[in-house]
Amino acid sequence: MGVVVTGSAGFIGGHLVSTLRARGYDVAGIDRRPGTPREALWVAADLAATPLDAAVEGVLAGADAVFHLAGAPGVRACGDRVARRRVLDNVVAGERVLRLAARSSPVVVASSSSIYGGAGDVTSPRPCAESDRPRPLGGYAGSKVELERLCALRAAGGGMVAVARPFTVAGERQRPDMAIARWLAAARANRTLKIFGGLDRLRDITDVSDVVAGLIAIAERGLTGTVNLGSGIARTLEEIVGAVGEALAVEPRVAVEPAGLQEPPSTLADTGRMRRLLGITPNDDLIGLVARQARAAEPALVTS
Ligand code: NAD
Repeated sequence: MGVVVTGSAGFIGGHLVSTLRARGYDVAGIDRRPGTPREALWVAADLAATPLDAAVEGVLAGADAVFHLAGAPGVRACGDRVARRRVLDNVVAGERVLRLAARSSPVVVASSSSIYGGAGDVTSPRPCAESDRPRPLGGYAGSKVELERLCALRAAGGGMVAVARPFTVAGERQRPDMAIARWLAAARANRTLKIFGGLDRLRDITDVSDVVAGLIAIAERGLTGTVNLGSGIARTLEEIVGAVGEALAVEPRVAVEPAGLQEPPSTLADTGRMRRLLGITPNDDLIGLVARQARAAEPALVTS
């Protein structure tokens, strides 16, 4: 079976490509930047470029399944350039992938938990379920709502498509702009950790292995509709900072700064569908997960 992973040079895409290859799938990765794992064929192209590379059209049209992960991630960045990038990478690229993949081939699209606009107050968070009405708080979440609308159009036209909503993903090679990666780098360099909003804020932290297992199970089981990929546990930022300290055996210093309005005080997944339909029991070992990420990011030992 030939499958395509867009965003194959990225954090989640790289893990997905390696796991698919280990399971015996032929994989082609589409990404505009280098970094696609060597086990896969790399199609170097920008999915939002005009005209679109003809090789991309052929690869997508011939795929038995497509995992669409390419996109401009991150809720915090703002400004006109970022807004334009989000339209191109999250909406224009998505529209093309959804249009070019054969209708009978499953397309699994990475949306985001950010479309929920948070899980409410930190003292009594309410798990977000797939049936909840979207409440996007910023431009990133808004672009994912638009991407989900395009998925619904494909479904309405008889095309196979499923939407995955990952909650803050952690693990080996996490994007350097994400909190745990930033905090590990800061703590390692004996710098103060920058915390946005307060240590009592809550985040559902999801193991990248669970996200990858979820994406593959969606395609293999021919699931359509929407599914959260989360841990179902709301961690305080204090707990996460504690896990960073434990991983590096240090006492991190923290400085709290105001959070942007696009960043909700809490996130929390209802993982009922993920468990029931995909058969996944999410990893609940935060300390072990952060330790794994820390080990993978360890500077190489210099040998003379
Ligand atoms: P990432 O930035 O590491 O990977 C995205 C990849 O897509 C990059 O390699 C980038 O070069 C590629 N890409 C972007 N636009 C492209 C285009 N127009 N043409 C070709 N390649 C393009 O991000 P990630 O953390 O691996 O996230 C993957 C997907 O999952 C994204 O869509 C993101 O919005 C979504 N997501 C991520 C998280 C998370 O916690 N990491 C949570 C929710 C949703």
